[in-house]
Amino acid sequence: MKFEIPAGAQKILRTLTAAGYEAYLVGGCVRDLLRGVEPHDWDICTSARPEETEACFTGQRIIETGLKHGTVTVLEEGEPYEITTYRTEGPYSDSRRPDYVEFVSSLEADLARRDFTMNAIAMGLDGSLRDPFGGAADIQAGVIRCVGEPAQRFREDGLRVMRALRFASALGYKIENGTAGAIHENRRMLEHVAAERINVELSKLLVGERAGDILRQYPDVFCQFWPQLEPLVALEQNNPWHCWGGWEHTIHAVEAAPPDLVLRLTMLLHDIGKPACKSTDEKGIDHFYGHPAVSAKLADQMLRELKFDNRARERVVTLVERHDVQIPNRERSLRKWLGRLGPETFFRLLEVKRADSMGQSYELVKDRLAELEEMKTKAAEIVAQGQCFSLKDLAVNGRDVIAAGVAPGPEVGRVLERLLERVTGGEIPNERETLLGLLRSDDGPAVGM
Ligand code: ATP
Ligand code: MG
Repeated sequence: MKFEIPAGAQKILRTLTAAGYEAYLVGGCVRDLLRGVEPHDWDICTSARPEETEACFTGQRIIETGLKHGTVTVLEEGEPYEITTYRTEGPYSDSRRPDYVEFVSSLEADLARRDFTMNAIAMGLDGSLRDPFGGAADIQAGVIRCVGEPAQRFREDGLRVMRALRFASALGYKIENGTAGAIHENRRMLEHVAAERINVELSKLLVGERAGDILRQYPDVFCQFWPQLEPLVALEQNNPWHCWGGWEHTIHAVEAAPPDLVLRLTMLLHDIGKPACKSTDEKGIDHFYGHPAVSAKLADQMLRELKFDNRARERVVTLVERHDVQIPNRERSLRKWLGRLGPETFFRLLEVKRADSMGQSYELVKDRLAELEEMKTKAAEIVAQGQCFSLKDLAVNGRDVIAAGVAPGPEVGRVLERLLERVTGGEIPNERETLLGLLRSDDGPAVGM
């Protein structure tokens, strides 16, 4: 095995077995060990009932938050370990949570409730496997397969539809045919799944190495929780700039973006407003005037629906809104845009533009791609040289503007913006005295309207 079982987990397995119970590592950590990847947490399952587990660790820090579901968390060597009693699950009458859990004495029954064969393997302290569903062979072959009858498993818990796609994207595994068919057929089960749970899986899916393939193979699943995608999936684009329809263009753009959630979400949603903006001219060429603003509005609504946090949502919406702005490859405009957006958003926008271009006819965009590279280098130089480019770098601030006679309120910001534009444009130096002079001059605080 490439990775050692941590001392804390070893100690827990030993303590439980010494007390006469069975105890195994289980789930994600066993899967990752078999894949040769370092596990990020180490879950343990045991035949001991929760109170029996607690009794094995008296005097140690124990967290009881999962007790209802049979989970006791023990702190060992400073690390938390979740220890869960073997259990099966009752029926899912609301398709969200099992109505009840039932403790059982057999490891096999516990493994049988788990979603996929690769997640239903137990490993003992000595590295031996208990693998009744052939999970190790499926890992070896890179296959995602339901434990038991796929349709029934997706009907019990619709989230498993998204978990299957998430694992396929993140691990680059193939979804076995029976399981794949049942995903399409049971995608409606996602209706019953809380937005927050879908969000978690979608976020991991999008930053996965195979996100593009999954979007291509399962558009129906994405449309299930985001019906706003449907017109984009169906969109044809008849114009010289696009060799693909709306969905295939979107997929290429997602694939071309670095595996960062904000960027991947931006590419997924950047053209979502195109179908609503489509017009066809007398030559039969399609246009999509005004689509970035419509896309931004729709993206905002979709991200709210899936409960993305405000920070991520605002970043995505800003980038979607600006994805099509023309930024001339000149120092002056680079400074202006750096100032307007701030360096972080500006560099992200260049990535967005690059990814968007990668989804178009290559012959038409190769010069554009080279130009974007150049812009990135130049902008990095501007930032490195510490040239003034944002409001907070300006040698005067809001208090100075108010002191010069502008009433507190939005006009203060506008005056500062205008000063900044003139400074970044190279018209006036970023010197306090010069700027104060302008504020006090005859033009007054309008500073050269
Ligand atoms: P990750 O590496 O993302 O943590 P994981 O497989 O550990 O992957 P968790 O969500 O931490 O995923 O779940 C731990 C284990 O619990 C899984 O390996 C699986 O055996 C089981 N499990 C989790 N969610 C479900 C579910 N919705 N249905 C059935 N079994 C599940
Ligand atoms: Mg886990």
